[in-house]
Amino acid sequence: MKEKLQAIFKEKFGTDSVVYASAGRINLIGEHTDYNGGFVFPGAIDKYIMAAININGTDKVRAYSADLDKFAEFGLNEADAPAEQWARYIFGVCRETIKRGGTVKGFDTVFAGNVPLGAGLSSSAALESAFAFALNDLFNDNKIDKFELAKIGQSTEHNYCGVNCGIMDQFASVFGKKNCLIRLDCRSLEYEYFPFDAKGYKLVLLDSKVKHELVDSPYNKRRESCERVAKALGVETLRDASIEMLNGIKDQISQEDYNRAEYVIDEKQRVLDVCDALQKGDFETVGDRMYKTHEGMSKLYEVSCVELDYLNDIAKECGVTGSRIMGGGFGGCTINLVKEELYDHFIATAKAKFNEKYGHEPVVIDVIISDGAHKVVD
Ligand code: ADP
Ligand code: MG
Repeated sequence: MKEKLQAIFKEKFGTDSVVYASAGRINLIGEHTDYNGGFVFPGAIDKYIMAAININGTDKVRAYSADLDKFAEFGLNEADAPAEQWARYIFGVCRETIKRGGTVKGFDTVFAGNVPLGAGLSSSAALESAFAFALNDLFNDNKIDKFELAKIGQSTEHNYCGVNCGIMDQFASVFGKKNCLIRLDCRSLEYEYFPFDAKGYKLVLLDSKVKHELVDSPYNKRRESCERVAKALGVETLRDASIEMLNGIKDQISQEDYNRAEYVIDEKQRVLDVCDALQKGDFETVGDRMYKTHEGMSKLYEVSCVELDYLNDIAKECGVTGSRIMGGGFGGCTINLVKEELYDHFIATAKAKFNEKYGHEPVVIDVIISDGAHKVVD
């Protein structure tokens, strides 16, 4: 992809260019934990956004999206925001860098990617992180630290794209490392790398292509439940709660709130269990916790849906080591940890059964845990 982008760049802008990339991400376990002060456990994947860039000596950015075959030109002042959504990601990253005291001058860019859009792999974070990293290298002597690069991406979503996201996606895209997952403590923002060297296994996502649009803000309702229980317990977030504490106030809260809190408390422990297991190379325990997360999301947190439950059941029937819904819920993908020798059987079975029931096949996305934002040097 590097040579292709540089060739297009030369054709469009007539000069050589330097290429940067950043990655989409998966989250192995730790769902709905971020706003409860808990842990998430993401990793960057081998699906990238790549951008060929050259400084152009003006105060304008000229950007060409090779995938969309669209061109945009914009200045670097707040009033210069482009109308196109894809260009707003780049503009936002420029603006957020400048707001933090960084330098950004005019540049030309040609970019493309293979992170599936809107599949829950965070193509937007990959796009932001590629440019945040590039601007840091091109104009700021790499003086902006990596956490700030992730925050530049997050603020871009908040301030220029209308998406009120947490820090996980951009964090994973910037900090990602080959064969490593990263446990991020969403309360302290401390993080730790854990080996994910899954020899003999594959990680595969099955995208159901289903998205249930729900009218009654289920996400906000889940947050409210968690906040109510935390308040009843006298703790800041459920991070500080245990099942014993929860049982102590059982008669003061609704069964629904109890279930929600039980899921969150269990999920915190499951992330820790998976990290321990990975250090021992114990993938059976990793898989077991993935299934338990799915069950919790389905039965206690009630954010799954019939299609994702069905994919999870198929995984179980096929003897897949671990499987769960990935992301906030109500559609999207399952993430599956599957032994290599079972892979073909699992994929064929999932496609056939899902198609029979829902009239279309799930989209298969193989992923390998890979490096995050970097300069591409052959
Ligand atoms: P995701 O869950 O994949 O992050 P989003 O809706 O947050 O989905 O972001 C997708 C948006 O990011 C696209 O609509 C587009 O504006 C931008 N984008 C992502 N990848 C590309 C690409 N390869 N080329 C152009 N724009 C892209
Ligand atoms: Mg996104």
